[in-house]
Amino acid sequence: MRTLIIEDNTELANLLAERLAARGIESDIAGGIVEADDHMAVGQFDAIMLDLGLPDGDGIDWLRSLPTDRPPVLILSARSTLDDRVTGLDTGADDYLVKPAEVEEIAARLRALVRRPGRRDPVVLKVGNVTFDTTSRQAEVDGQLLAIGRKEADFLELLLRNAGKVVPRERLEGTLYSAADPVTPNALEAVASRLRRRFAEAGEDNILHTVRGVGYFFGSRSAL
Ligand code: CA
Repeated sequence: MRTLIIEDNTELANLLAERLAARGIESDIAGGIVEADDHMAVGQFDAIMLDLGLPDGDGIDWLRSLPTDRPPVLILSARSTLDDRVTGLDTGADDYLVKPAEVEEIAARLRALVRRPGRRDPVVLKVGNVTFDTTSRQAEVDGQLLAIGRKEADFLELLLRNAGKVVPRERLEGTLYSAADPVTPNALEAVASRLRRRFAEAGEDNILHTVRGVGYFFGSRSAL
């Protein structure tokens, strides 16, 4: 999952990004409205975290200006009155949390937002004998736990969510790497081969396929 954190407190934004990354949520950071617009113009985000008191405008006004096909928005603000929360939600925010909030709860709410709208994506993804728990970030083959890193977990999650389809490399790069953590030429293939090695060790050596020049495919090759 990739999010945009709009927050003018740099220290808080960095801390949040770091702690979310440990939970499989990559973030770009915007310090205000103008920067947020710049990120929105070039990046693809699964969710947005929005502070309201920003140096170059109010988050509520910015939220109003967004197109209807925007990603879900979680307001994270120190404004804590009932009026503030109702206004935020009525303006179209999908969720509202008052600062300070625990990162565990922020991550859980982001996952819930991404599971909507109308989609009932399961918490545990399962394809054949492979399962991935999107909350604990643990992957198993036939109940055998795989030792995988954060990028491998992000990669696997996206492939499992799109099992049976070729996932374009641009989409994977956009999800795994943020503006602060740019992708290098062979980074994706390195992640894929580490993942393949873990699968092979668990006895599953023909499940993750590279579609040269296009992307990656998860499943039995006959379905390609
Ligand atoms: Ca602020």
